[in-house]
Amino acid sequence: MTVRVRFAPSPTGFMHLGNARTALFNWLYARHMGGQFILRIEDTDRERHTEAAVQVIYDSLKWMGLNWDGPVLRQSERLAIYHEVAQKLIDEGKAYRCNCTREELEAKKEAMKETANHACYDGTCREKNLGPDCGTHVVRFKMPKEGESTFEDMIQGTITKNYKDLDDFIMVRSDGMPTYQFAVVVDDLALQITHVIRGADHIDNTHCQIALYHALGKEPPRFAHAPRIDGLSKRKGSPSVEYYREALGLLPEGLNNYIARLGWSHGDDEIFSMQELIEKFDICDVNRANGEFDEEKLKWVNEQQLRLVPIEEIADHTLERYEKAGIKVEKGEWLYKLLEMMRKRAHSLNEIVSDSLFIWNAPQTYDEASVSKHFNADTPALLEDLANAIQNITDWSETAIEAAFNEIAANRSLKMGKVAQPARTAIVGIAQSPGIYEVVWFVGKDETVRRLHKAAEFIKNR
Ligand code: GLU
Repeated sequence: MTVRVRFAPSPTGFMHLGNARTALFNWLYARHMGGQFILRIEDTDRERHTEAAVQVIYDSLKWMGLNWDGPVLRQSERLAIYHEVAQKLIDEGKAYRCNCTREELEAKKEAMKETANHACYDGTCREKNLGPDCGTHVVRFKMPKEGESTFEDMIQGTITKNYKDLDDFIMVRSDGMPTYQFAVVVDDLALQITHVIRGADHIDNTHCQIALYHALGKEPPRFAHAPRIDGLSKRKGSPSVEYYREALGLLPEGLNNYIARLGWSHGDDEIFSMQELIEKFDICDVNRANGEFDEEKLKWVNEQQLRLVPIEEIADHTLERYEKAGIKVEKGEWLYKLLEMMRKRAHSLNEIVSDSLFIWNAPQTYDEASVSKHFNADTPALLEDLANAIQNITDWSETAIEAAFNEIAANRSLKMGKVAQPARTAIVGIAQSPGIYEVVWFVGKDETVRRLHKAAEFIKNR
């Protein structure tokens, strides 16, 4: 049997992290099993769903690296099929039209409050055999009334519910649109889905869906309901993929690694490449207990990934960010060397870019703490001597730059820090940067010399 799983988001305009994890679990399971990962857009709510919102789903999945197999299925294009299946179930007496009005239903609910602790439809139209000419109506499923519904969840174990607690749920609304509950089964059958992996909030729905499979004379797929992610509402910012991609500047590997571990584990291992996740992930190893979202941990995982992924990939993720900052860079050895320098200490892609802008942008002001600590009356002469030594370098290499610094320090019997820190402040604007020789190399000879003289003038004029 080829494993076929699906991710079936409704286009809400953003990709919630819980949904992102559902997508990831499905994708990992498909790739692990050599199966297929199908994308289905549940867009039957025509008023709410825009094309822009559908695009968000595509963009998020692509960014996460979760490629799908075959064409995307759009529920809005399948209305005729849902109607056909609904009609078949009506003809077989397994579904029925119901023309109870909203007011009648409200009144019934109210009345049932006294007699029962649930608010199921009372079955007024269940045996009426209403035809299509019964006025405004919905189509309801005839839920078995005796016994219980049981299924074996791959994560949660055995789950049971009494049929009397299950509703004759609506399959087709009065406007002709199918409900989620109905369309999901029609589609999962059409797509030959073998495993339904989704959030635990769908456990109750599963009983209704299994009853529908049986009514259609089909075997239901296997189900796996992943536990909730707690703590998402307590944090700042939107709990979405877009937020972590843009505002926090995470790598997809960072987010994927972290959300995979929210509910799934493999021994005590914390850091996984995508390839390792594919090799090690099994849906049976997902825990039952809820995951607790921890943003600090997410950032830590992301930092580890920043040091691990191929440098070309870091480049891909930073190009657009540099462009937004008004800097034009191209992929190539120079950029890779820069990113190697920056990624050693950066927490995010955004930081790699923002902390390296000094290479192009000369300091407009100098950090006050750095100035009071590292600039004094002797500094202008020191910076000017250093500028001359750098000007005289003929082979532009870090070794030659280091030699120039050593020469200045030796001439003045200064420890290297006493040369490097004023130089940093002059070149970067603050006495914090990657290694000074590398920094000078990237800034370039002429520009370094210019910045050293400019800082010397600044100190003299203070
Ligand atoms: N559109 C549903 C959701 O986003 C799909 C649930 C399912 O996977 O069955 O929750």
